[in-house]
Amino acid sequence: MPALDRNTRRLINSLKRKNAMLTALSLILAVALLVMTVLYVTKDSGAETTDSTSVLESSSDFDTATSSEKKQSSEQSSTSKESSSSKKESSGSASSKVVDAAATPGDTIESWNLKLVNGKNPLPSGFTVQTEKIKASYARDVGMLYDARAVSYLNAMCAAAEKDGVNLLVISSYRTNARQKTLYNNQVAKQKVNHPELSDAEVKKLAATISAYPGTSEHELGLAVDFNSVETSFEGTAQFKWLKAHAEEYGFILRYTKEKQDITGVIYEPWHYRYVGEKHAKKINQLGFCLEEYIDYLKNNK
Ligand SMILES: [Zn+2]
Repeated sequence: MPALDRNTRRLINSLKRKNAMLTALSLILAVALLVMTVLYVTKDSGAETTDSTSVLESSSDFDTATSSEKKQSSEQSSTSKESSSSKKESSGSASSKVVDAAATPGDTIESWNLKLVNGKNPLPSGFTVQTEKIKASYARDVGMLYDARAVSYLNAMCAAAEKDGVNLLVISSYRTNARQKTLYNNQVAKQKVNHPELSDAEVKKLAATISAYPGTSEHELGLAVDFNSVETSFEGTAQFKWLKAHAEEYGFILRYTKEKQDITGVIYEPWHYRYVGEKHAKKINQLGFCLEEYIDYLKNNK
């Protein structure tokens, strides 16, 4: 019996040594992978990330709670290299986490499809984007434009809806800054009439929750699209029901939900969709996030 015990102990000891060697090997592999990932990400987005951080800090629109959250997360992202390397060494699942956060290689929060535009993240002045015409049968007006990189997904989504007997009609897509200026000014004038009790500053603030301040509309980015009717009753239509079930398959998300108005700073808009790409759209819906929360999530999980 004692001899058997010694053998067993020897066996256990040799297994332990093998195990330790394997752990060391996988650690070395994980560190090498991390170094490669960090090199790749910084090469792609280093300069742009710094730009967006300064925009975050200098802007002052919408609610202050999310502003401080944003500052916090941008501080965290500036130290993310150190923290992610320590995470990597202590956890075997770290490499899958990096892949998960980046979604596709080179796809960062500064990628065109994830570009966050809102009251706190205005577009740079003079922003331009290459656009293409939306297929005429899906557009209410002649020559409606959309980001050239995503227009095929929009056309494909409208075609798929059509096949299911649902008529998706684009009533607003890409807008120039001048057009957004007109819409915003019209909204200010309208709210002034509706709310004579409010000050000019209050009227402007209210107007911006309905029609974005020029430079802060996703429609200027070229990735936003309004369908059929800009009425809350749109949520009761077959179109809305179809979009709820299928928009993510084409890379689109419902951008301004009822639940996230405090974070987006925009009223509930059941008609307004935004292209982010299929993988991100599915992840955003699965997490129950709005785009603002998802961008923070990607920053913190980098
Ligand atoms: Zn819209």
